[in-house]
Amino acid sequence: MQTRTLGNTGLATSAVGFGGIPIIRLGRDEAAALLRHAVERGITFFDTANRYMDSEEKMGQAFAGIRDKVVIATKTGMRGAKEALEELELSLTRLKTDYIDLYQPHQVSNPEEFATLMGPGGAMDALVKAREQGKIRHIGITSHSLEMARKLVATGLFATIQFPYNIVETEAAAELFPEALARDMGILVMKPFAGGMLDDGDLALRFLRRHPDLLVLAGCDTAEQVDQAVDVFSGDSVWTEADAAKAEGYRQELGSRFCRRCEYCQPCPQGVRITYAMMYRVVAKRMSPAKAVNFAGATMETVRECVDCGECATRCPYNLPIPEMLREYLALYDSHRQEAQ
Ligand code: SF4
Ligand code: SF4
Repeated sequence: MQTRTLGNTGLATSAVGFGGIPIIRLGRDEAAALLRHAVERGITFFDTANRYMDSEEKMGQAFAGIRDKVVIATKTGMRGAKEALEELELSLTRLKTDYIDLYQPHQVSNPEEFATLMGPGGAMDALVKAREQGKIRHIGITSHSLEMARKLVATGLFATIQFPYNIVETEAAAELFPEALARDMGILVMKPFAGGMLDDGDLALRFLRRHPDLLVLAGCDTAEQVDQAVDVFSGDSVWTEADAAKAEGYRQELGSRFCRRCEYCQPCPQGVRITYAMMYRVVAKRMSPAKAVNFAGATMETVRECVDCGECATRCPYNLPIPEMLREYLALYDSHRQEAQ
């Protein structure tokens, strides 16, 4: 297994880390067994978040007795000092530990959040104190906005930056990553599979392995996925012209306007199944239109309930014009229904 040293933190970890969202779907014992399997296969970095439902608790259960063998990163969505400290205490309890290796304000996306986080009474002051007390070893940051991520890196206050990067989302490579490296920061890559849109996991990971400075967080809910991630980051790996062509095919298929299935836009007050409906175009491309109509019909019918309130779009970290896209996909679905009749 390749290793990485996270910027100037001195933290040495496996080059591929475990992303903690998918274990939400597993039972407690099943999740613990999977996390233990990841440790046995050489993964030493585990990333979770306060808002990932019971993910922290499952990690706490899995790492009982082996805390010193893993590096744990978690996150707070709170921007105020008091609330961030409450979430930190909750994370410590759930993870059954007295320190967090890397604590990250989660998904900072706009100037208002930035100002609250950094200002008087903001979370940053409190996290620095918690670091002095030993409850946090290092403070990192996460964002989905390139502009905001660059601004956060420029503060020089964070040990790591976590940002989406994959075959179809490569914007960070030009400026964000060099700026972070110039500050000796660690770079954590989220969304290596573009929220599940890249169905060739081996290709997606081999694409990322070519960048020796990245710690790639692969979300896994099966032992096979863990093994695939470990295998890609162990031994030799090549990137062929055929791989490059397949990667280009994904770029052509998905473009820049696609849903990463993060679910931050949910719930819709009208009951629209936004995330699944946002997949319709790709589903229809990968299946035949007739099959897509059958497969996604119940979901697409909920889109008719959309009243265009725009609430969902304000929560999308990728600034997707969700209502407009839903209308587009509903029209496509309706045309497929007519074809299928
Ligand atoms: S715009 Fe439509 S889908 Fe989005 S929250 Fe409003 S009703 Fe729901
Ligand atoms: S529409 Fe945006 S917020 Fe909703 S799941 Fe997709 S990427 Fe996430």
